[in-house]
Amino acid sequence: MNKFFFKNCRNAFAAISSIAIFAAALPSFAAKVVILNGDDQSVGFNDTRAVAPVGGNPGTTVGEQRLNAMKFVAEIWGRTLTGTSQTIEVLAGFLPLGCDGTLAGANAWQFSRDFANAPLRGTWYHAALANKLAGVDLDAARDDPAPEAFAIANLDLDRPDCLPGVSWYYGLDGKAPPGGEDFVRVMLHELGHGMSFATTTDEATGEYLQGFPGVWDHFLYDNTLNRRWVDMNVAERKASALNNEQLVWSGFTTFIDAQRTLAIKPQLDLFVTGASQLQGFVVSGIPNFGLPEGSRRGSGLIAFTDDARPTGDGCLPFDGALAAKVRGRIAIINRGVCAIVDKVLNAQNAGARGVVLIQNTPTFFRFAFPFERDTTSPIRIPAGLISQQDGAKLRASASTFTTISFIDTRRRAGTDLFGRPQLFAPTANIQGSSVSHWNVSASPNLLMEPFAVGDESLTLRPPGDLTLSLFKDIGW
Ligand SMILES: [Zn+2]
Repeated sequence: MNKFFFKNCRNAFAAISSIAIFAAALPSFAAKVVILNGDDQSVGFNDTRAVAPVGGNPGTTVGEQRLNAMKFVAEIWGRTLTGTSQTIEVLAGFLPLGCDGTLAGANAWQFSRDFANAPLRGTWYHAALANKLAGVDLDAARDDPAPEAFAIANLDLDRPDCLPGVSWYYGLDGKAPPGGEDFVRVMLHELGHGMSFATTTDEATGEYLQGFPGVWDHFLYDNTLNRRWVDMNVAERKASALNNEQLVWSGFTTFIDAQRTLAIKPQLDLFVTGASQLQGFVVSGIPNFGLPEGSRRGSGLIAFTDDARPTGDGCLPFDGALAAKVRGRIAIINRGVCAIVDKVLNAQNAGARGVVLIQNTPTFFRFAFPFERDTTSPIRIPAGLISQQDGAKLRASASTFTTISFIDTRRRAGTDLFGRPQLFAPTANIQGSSVSHWNVSASPNLLMEPFAVGDESLTLRPPGDLTLSLFKDIGW
């Protein structure tokens, strides 16, 4: 119950024309980032219900606490983005976003390109960054100058009947109790999107925003195509957004900073030969079971179990024919019905040298699994898990010589083989989350990962985090 999507709710505010906008009194510390309270009377930041102060937040009404926490977030951002002379206005408010686990959303209010001093021609920049680079507020001459960014928090989360046991925590100390969603941490993340942590390109279709790439697209690099997003066509970008673990950030500052921010962890990969459609490195993810770290090695010819029993593929002890099929081989078993650990144990007992499971849903990505060895586990063969898409390629093209090797390496968690940080690119698109976040396998957890775990750093800088590093790459 501790994982929730952040959603990058694009333009959600644009449809609301009647919203009351007024500037909150600016405390002296918010030199650059100003919160505009966008809530109606008695709602959200204006909720007058009395509450006791919590976690360093002195507010005595729900609304006061919310606004205090939001300004606290703005203060952190203000201290971080020191290179701009321009005020950054953030229109913030609470809206009912439902009870599906959505916490919040944010984005730039608008994007600019080809302004004076723009480093890259024909390229979109988020408003706050564009103003910084231009040295002026680019929309100041308009009759209705707009804020630079907007941020929405889910009002429903504080309803007792919405995700019972879960509600916002408005303390400023980062010490949310169980069931408390840390508002400061979540909105710190959301303002990251508002400031410029997102591509402007539609990752679901690969289409540029109004025909022009965003500054992100100059740094999104696909290891399979060996090309940046700006050098791809629409179809290639669409495919690249689903290229799990192969979509990386190519910026120099972030690369350097990643080497002192991300921890070195065991990583299990597979190497496939003899299958025409699935060759070479294949991403795998699974807990370590009983093998000591670094010893999940092995190699062998593969055998699909195709266990047709209604109990599920590999869920019962293998009978004679099934055991003969997998003995001395790498057993390929479909995920589902029973626990992974049962399938691997059954294969081991039948004499398999290793197991590769195939994911049973289109969505696949490698979590930062707890790779600690389970010393009580009886499993002594290596096991991996591959995506449904890779499983289909393997099945369609495997020959009698198809071999899978387990490669148990150590590298910085959340980086590719060259140490470049990976973007979140699961095998099925998660609208608004795919591409515009770091990969979930990063460790320690980064602020701009797509799920709130609760232990993300409240700093935006290395060696605690890579948000500012990425910002420097794009012009902050
Ligand atoms: Zn996000």
